[in-house]
Amino acid sequence: HELPGDAEPGGQLRQVEGALYSRVDPTPVAAPRVLAHSAEMAATLGFSEAEVVSAEFAQVFGGNALLEGMWPWAANYGGHQFGQWAGQLGDGRAISLGELVNAAGERWELQLKGAGRTPYSRGADGRAVLRSSVREFLCSEAMHHLGVPTTRALCLLETGEPVLRDMFYDGHAAPESGAIVCRAAPSFIRFGNFELPASRGDVTLLRQLVDFTIRRDFPELSGQGEALYAEWFAQVCERTATMIAHWMRVGFVHGVMNTDNMSILGLTIDYGPYGWIDNFDPDWTPNTTDAQRRRYRFGQQPNVAWWNLSRLAGALAPLFDDVAPLQAGLDRYAEVYAAADRVNIARKLGLAECRDADVVLMQDLHGLMASAEIDMTLWFRALAELDPLAPTLQPMDDAFYDEAKQRGAEPALMDWLTRYATRLVDDPLSADARRARMRAANPCHVLRNYLAQQAIDQASAGDPSGIHELLDVMRHPYDDQPGREAFASRRPDWARHKAGCSM
Ligand code: AMP
Ligand code: MG
Ligand code: MG
Repeated sequence: HELPGDAEPGGQLRQVEGALYSRVDPTPVAAPRVLAHSAEMAATLGFSEAEVVSAEFAQVFGGNALLEGMWPWAANYGGHQFGQWAGQLGDGRAISLGELVNAAGERWELQLKGAGRTPYSRGADGRAVLRSSVREFLCSEAMHHLGVPTTRALCLLETGEPVLRDMFYDGHAAPESGAIVCRAAPSFIRFGNFELPASRGDVTLLRQLVDFTIRRDFPELSGQGEALYAEWFAQVCERTATMIAHWMRVGFVHGVMNTDNMSILGLTIDYGPYGWIDNFDPDWTPNTTDAQRRRYRFGQQPNVAWWNLSRLAGALAPLFDDVAPLQAGLDRYAEVYAAADRVNIARKLGLAECRDADVVLMQDLHGLMASAEIDMTLWFRALAELDPLAPTLQPMDDAFYDEAKQRGAEPALMDWLTRYATRLVDDPLSADARRARMRAANPCHVLRNYLAQQAIDQASAGDPSGIHELLDVMRHPYDDQPGREAFASRRPDWARHKAGCSM
């Protein structure tokens, strides 16, 4: 479907019907410059370090030039946003350059975010600011190293052009540096890609996309017709459950779990106003526009994922004679999530297996952590150092944000530690095995909001080295890193009410 990269005059949303994407080229920028890249991702894609620093690389990934074989497009999708059907959304500022098959035979789609307008941009500029691009670049790589399924990031570029945002997030409207992230994934197809043709009654296009997705991205599935579709949907449900369980394990809050931001591969996608849990609080959301309804708060994520999957099921319903297989897929989500949650409990607490009473033990801990304002990352990391024969709160001393609350909670926390210590004595794991299990599940480094913000501030002042150092820290999130203790500390008081930011 060929369209020039523009919207209707007046910023009206042009409806692109009967097509799954539009052919559109990136809009060139003034002075593209690579600020950072992921060495792992460059190696995976077959780029040498010399190529990454070449002028040609910056031209291509800044959107000024195409390599032979690139054939850029923007995807057409819709979505449910904040619980409502939002119609066609499309890729307003993401342009895929093509697919690359690497030496290992893996297929990677390369996509520029912030590369200019597309037929789906409506009144917006198709650009991204440095702030949001640094956040996406760092977080995709951090999530990967944390073992969370995610889209990846190859590189971060500055465009050399200013971008103007009316910043209702933090209220400043000065021009900011434009930036582009090249992200990579086997596919960027979202739930919303299926919802859009379904919403228009275009079952032919819907079926075409489902068949394409199964053939390309789920080659391990066999069978045909409804049985194949049912198994595929169940796989999507399973992968989503696994992804959400990882989010809950590491304290990641996506912040905009709309169906247009849900990957069909179960990858974390679209790093906007995401945030990380500092003090454990299931009601926290980084999305200030969601502050009232708090639909996308931390503790709500497993439920919202289910709801999003149920929207996908609704979109796929025209391909089924009856809805029982779709219901079975949703049930699979609940089962897989519940099982993964138990694995999280066993790993985070260092137990060989999770018993029913351990679920209660963890729930009780969560309640105490919330009321006592305890840092999630520091607590679980330090808990591995507990001596079950003489439990004290001393190893977790750094995890408290409020001295008065700490003192008030101490008796209840000591009761909890005693229960936990008793449980440990009853567990078959050796002390060493338990500690190793906990340290592999409980990172000491997460991409705390204020750390990303410090790197952004420094980069905005012309020095990207903070991005490089933070990326380097996040390459080994489960390792203590001597000399870098500052990256593994509690959020400082000055950063307390700083939310994430998005656009
Ligand atoms: P998001 O809320 O970031 O998931 O974006 C929802 C839709 O708006 C997606 O289609 C985005 O590509 C589009 N969008 C967001 N920001 C811009 C922008 N600056 N220019 C054009 N489209 C945008
Ligand atoms: Mg999005
Ligand atoms: Mg976004």
